[in-house]
Order: sequence, then structure tokens, then C-alpha cells
Amino acid sequence: MDRQQEFVLRTLEERDIRFVRLWFTDVLGTLKSVSVAPAELEAAFDEGIGFDGSAIEGFARVYESDMVAMPDPTTFQVFPFEGGGLQRSGGESARMFCDILLPDGSPSWADPRHVLRRALSKAAEKGFTFYTHPEIEFFLLSDIPDNGDLPTPVDAGGYFDHTTHAVARDFRRQAVLSLERIGISVEFSHHEVAPGQQEIDLRYADALTMADNIMTFRHVIKEVATSHGVHASFMPKPFTDQPGSGMHTHLSLFEGERNAFHDPGDPSKMSKVGKAFIAGLLTHAREYTAITNQWVNSYKRLFPQALPDRITESPAYVCWGNLNRSALVRVPAYGKPNSARVEIRSVDSACNPYLAYAVLLGAGMKGIEEGYELPPGAEDDVWSLSDAERRAMGYQSLPENLAEAIDVMAGSEFVAEVLGEHVFEFFIRNKRTEWEEYRREVTPFERKRYLSL
Ligand code: GLN
Ligand code: MG
Ligand code: MG
Ligand code: MG
Repeated sequence: MDRQQEFVLRTLEERDIRFVRLWFTDVLGTLKSVSVAPAELEAAFDEGIGFDGSAIEGFARVYESDMVAMPDPTTFQVFPFEGGGLQRSGGESARMFCDILLPDGSPSWADPRHVLRRALSKAAEKGFTFYTHPEIEFFLLSDIPDNGDLPTPVDAGGYFDHTTHAVARDFRRQAVLSLERIGISVEFSHHEVAPGQQEIDLRYADALTMADNIMTFRHVIKEVATSHGVHASFMPKPFTDQPGSGMHTHLSLFEGERNAFHDPGDPSKMSKVGKAFIAGLLTHAREYTAITNQWVNSYKRLFPQALPDRITESPAYVCWGNLNRSALVRVPAYGKPNSARVEIRSVDSACNPYLAYAVLLGAGMKGIEEGYELPPGAEDDVWSLSDAERRAMGYQSLPENLAEAIDVMAGSEFVAEVLGEHVFEFFIRNKRTEWEEYRREVTPFERKRYLSL
């Protein structure tokens, strides 16, 4: 028993915690949870908790279904509230994330957390630690109709609006307090552009902690919403005529205490490592988009000029720029050298954060290892260029739909290597099925357009 494990057991006893939730994530990014009694935990630290992997999306084939969830004591967190509320009702509970093992104790090839760990340790071999800082957008809705009807946003607010008499402000306050109480630091929170749309930005952390934090965030946000009698949705694009919900993520590499993207000697202040990292993100963008944008609906958000009357600020073309919010990758201006970073803007709020961060790091590292050249930055608003102009400047389009994204990914040795063969193949199979289901569906669009033919 190591010190972390002892700390967990002691805390459970001291605080009289009756439920310990063990969490892990399936390949599509759904949170899974099993509760154990504190008395069982000592054994769980030794042997893990066995479960049927074939019942979990993407985990196993039926004939090799025994899997083991091994709690990671460094992720132990007491939830000082039941659900999202700050009042105690049923007493405190606690949770730990798990690593998934095969019965022989080796890491499961299907565990998204392991996929990210592998990518992180490859970067660590080169001396790099990977940090991320997501800006998470989502909608607050009064209802979630299950027949596909339009939901109702909780308010009519817009960007940075300070809405009075609306649920959004109290909601954000309580959400931020709840997150802070479980050790997730929030930097900013505000109303976003669309009615009912919110944004909460988390303070940067190493990518594994952050992926765990994002899973926790989604859970807490939904709980807090429920306690306000409303619903939170991370769907990438619920409304045709409103912007969608992105999860812009700021990425940086550190070598020890030093930000590896900063170079005071370069006119742009961006180091060679930083430039090659961006070049990697661009070069492999079309290949990893299926991972950062994994649903049929994700591509409605990435549609160029999605709204006739205003820009939606979601990228559709592969290019980078400094202040350019139409670019896939943006390099924000920064003050302190350690704040040097790049922002990737395609990622949406419904991705699997472990897999998304693994492919983004993998792409950037490939740029560094192979010395990719960074093309010139895009200064124009790339949405307003003509196709011919964009072609002349060498800006490729992101995949236009899930089918195209999967086809491009299926041909990518790079993505296969980062995900591992099992996750890679499962993902492609699963997403092809999703696309086929969508493709056979006759939509309201078609009925409106063609019924009277
Ligand atoms: N909602 C926009 C998106 O889909 C982002 C808006 C913003 O934060 N600038 O990416
Ligand atoms: Mg923002
Ligand atoms: Mg935003
Ligand atoms: Mg942003």
C-alpha cells in the first residue's frame, strides 16, 4: 500500500464517506461509474474491480471480455456535495478515475486514458510535458425533447451579457463554486453568443489531469443544471441558426520549468519547437478531425459561414494565424514567456478529451520530430475568400462531414499509431455505422423541400 492509497483510506474513514465512485471513460467519451463501499477499497487497490468489458462501448470483444478497473489514487477527490448542489443531502461521496487493465495486469489497449498516457510518455521521452487549457462551451436548455423537436434555451442573452432574473448567472456562480470545491480551477466564465449558451474556461493543467477534469466538469455541470431545474447540453450544434459549442483548447509544451514554445530571440517570439508543433497540427488536421469532432452533428458546426448574418467563429479551413479567429490554429498574444501557447479551435465540447488530446499531441510531436516547416500565417478572414483563392494559398478544407472525416482517418498511419490498432478499428467501425444510420434517415429538410414536388 503506497502513501496515496493510505491517504485515501484514511480520508474515507475520517470523513465518514460511504460511497466511493470509480470512474472511467469508454471509447466514445461516455463516463462510466461503479460505486464501491469503503471496506472494499483496500482490495480494489490490490486487485482492481472486475467488470464485463464487452458491455462497454469499444472495450472488448465478447470472448475476451474480462477487464479490471484499477483506481488511480492520485485522482481521489471528495465531493463535498451530493450531485452539483452545495448543500449536503446524502452526505459526502468521493471519486477516483481508474486505469483499465487486462486480467494479466497489462494496460488495456481499449482504455482512452491509456491512449493518452502512452502519447504523454512518448513526449516525456523527448523531455516534454504537455499542458492544455480548454474553453468549454455548452447550452443551458429548459427542456430536452426526445422526439427531436427544438429545445428552448433558458434565456435570450448574448456574448458577455449580464442577464438578470435569468437562471444562467446563478447557474454559473454555483457551477464555478462547485468546480473550485473539488479542485478544478476556473479562469473565466461568461454568457456566450447564442441564447442559453455558456462558456467556462479551466485553468491550464497537464493533459491527463485536464482530460479527467473535463469528464468531471461535464458531470458537475449537468448536476448543477438539474439542481436549477434546467438541462446542460454539450451537443456541438443544437440550433441551425445559432453558433455551436466549441472546446477551443490552448496547448503548450514545457521542458522542465521552461515553456518550449517561447523564444525571446525570434521576431515572432515563437520557438522552432512551437512552429514545428503548429505545422504538425496543420499537416495532420484532416486525419485527426474525426477524433476532435466525432459526431454527425459536429460537422454542422464546422460548416463555413454557417450563419448568413454573422460569423460563427468555428474553423472550416486548415490554416493558422495570430489574431485570426477564422483559422484552425491561432497563436494568441501573450505577456509572460511561460504563457506562450497555441489555440486549436476545431475541437468540440462532445469529444472524448483523452483521445482528442492524444491525437493533438501526437500531431504536434510529429511536426517536431520530422522538422515540419510552418507555412505563412493567414492574415485574411479565410471564410470570405473564394474557393480558388483558398486553393491558391494552399488552405485545405477540414472534412465536410463524418463520412469524409472517417475515410481520411482510415488512411492515416499517424492516427492508427497514436490510438493503437484496437481503438482505431473500433472507432472507424462504430462511426461508419453512425453515418449509415444518419444517411438512411429522411429529414424534415427533405420533406419541407420535396413533398410538394
Ligand atoms: N462558439 C464558437 C465555436 O463554435 C466559438 C466562439 C468564440 O468563443 N469565439 O467555436
Ligand atoms: Mg473564450
Ligand atoms: Mg467562446
Ligand atoms: Mg478561444
